[in-house]
Amino acid sequence: MPDDTFVPHTMGQQFGRRSWAEPWKIKMVEPIRQLDRAGRERAIREAGYNTFLLRSDDVYIDLLTDSGTNAMSDRQWAAIMLGDEAYAGSRNFYHLEGAIQRRFGYRYVVPTHQGRGAEHLISRTAIKPGQWVPGNMYFTTTRLHQELAGGTFVDVIIDEAHDPTSLHPFKGDMDLAKLEALIARVGPEQIAYVSLAATVNMAGGQPVSMANARAVSELCQRHGIRLFLDATRVVENAFFIEEREPGFAGRSVASIVHEFCSHADGAWMSAKKDGLVNIGGWLAVNDEELFEELRNLVVVFEGLHTYGGLAGRDMEALAVGIEESLEDAYIRARVGQVRYLGELLTDWGVAIVQPVGGHAVFLDARRFYPHLPQDAFPAQTLAAELYLDSGVRAMERGIASAGRDPKTGDHHRPKLELTRLTIPRRVYTQAHMDVVAESVKAVWDARESATGLRMVYEPKYLRFFQAKFEPLAAGETATSEAGGSEAAYSSSRG
Ligand SMILES: *Cc1c(COP(=O)(O)O)cnc(C)c1O
Repeated sequence: MPDDTFVPHTMGQQFGRRSWAEPWKIKMVEPIRQLDRAGRERAIREAGYNTFLLRSDDVYIDLLTDSGTNAMSDRQWAAIMLGDEAYAGSRNFYHLEGAIQRRFGYRYVVPTHQGRGAEHLISRTAIKPGQWVPGNMYFTTTRLHQELAGGTFVDVIIDEAHDPTSLHPFKGDMDLAKLEALIARVGPEQIAYVSLAATVNMAGGQPVSMANARAVSELCQRHGIRLFLDATRVVENAFFIEEREPGFAGRSVASIVHEFCSHADGAWMSAKKDGLVNIGGWLAVNDEELFEELRNLVVVFEGLHTYGGLAGRDMEALAVGIEESLEDAYIRARVGQVRYLGELLTDWGVAIVQPVGGHAVFLDARRFYPHLPQDAFPAQTLAAELYLDSGVRAMERGIASAGRDPKTGDHHRPKLELTRLTIPRRVYTQAHMDVVAESVKAVWDARESATGLRMVYEPKYLRFFQAKFEPLAAGETATSEAGGSEAAYSSSRG
């Protein structure tokens, strides 16, 4: 499919002249409030201009993340009451194991407290120090666990993923030539495994096509390399396949998920995303020997292999959440709400990543603030400005999130410098999306007056969570310790 002919559907096109609505009604409400301007100024200053350090009570509409922020259904809350809190052999584990085997198709299941618990276990077991781990763009916790296990992550995503204006329908695809070249250079035995994520969070929630998953799987088999799937948002990924990939129109999302997973030797999931729960994760593989190692290791780091750090009730809620996440009406409304926000901003000429992905609208901070160098943290600045304008909380996904190269100590300088408006599942209504869009528009209109930030506190690991910043005065230039320079910044944009 050529890039330039792809036009994302609007909800209007899908549903003719009729409006659409969420496939649920609200049974319980949680009040929210908006601080006044002076209150927001105080709150963001005290948070070191890092939205991760704001108190939730000071946030009006919380689009920090779609992780663990899901609203559970009445059926899931009922499932909570069926928790079997036995230390060993809880019936809820067997329900969860059955749901994962049935829906994702893997043989052996290890529960974990969340996605990074699974990443830790698979990285420790499947990576030998000095090996390489190719993937379709890095994810923060995934790459860190690969590095802590002695591996080196290599990005083999297609080039279009780094271009926020490319309308390629599957910007999450792996570049088979890049993958082949790496295998040729280091040798297949030096590849720990190939790490495929669907959708690709850091690229803007962009999907991977079934054709690409199949081709990557065939390539891996040819070289005797294992392929593991980060299935955190695989349901959203399947929705895009149904919508965009020839031959899949009209197929159920559940059947697409099952087929997609069949291309990998195993998968892990942060169930806090598409699993429709507030906490949880899992790891599943087909290889018995690998499973035995994982099942042994989970006892050391997470908990016994029939709870993996989860309460029985949480496993039950997840077993139900997996089923609900695969309902076509649910996933259409989920992605539809994200798209609604994206289309408002597109219509108003605001710079966002196109096409709009599955879980979030990503603002392109480079095009908001072309006058700010990357060392002045444009995306972090944009998140702070948005909070100041309305109390809407977004998240930086740019140079602060990218961290530093462990070898040189310099900042990683990602081409994408984005601020993410992440939509929690089943939590907000279309009216909330209108309020968010209007605030983003106000920040866009005031974009020329932004002056940027300097980092004044930097933690060693995953610094974006806890770093603190200070506003730069107008005209003051950003400085970067550890060897960062304007020259390096410019070349990284080329
Ligand atoms: C959130 C996330 C993870 C990590 O999962 P946690 O549950 O937050 O530990 C891994 N991969 C992707 C793609 C994610 O979005």
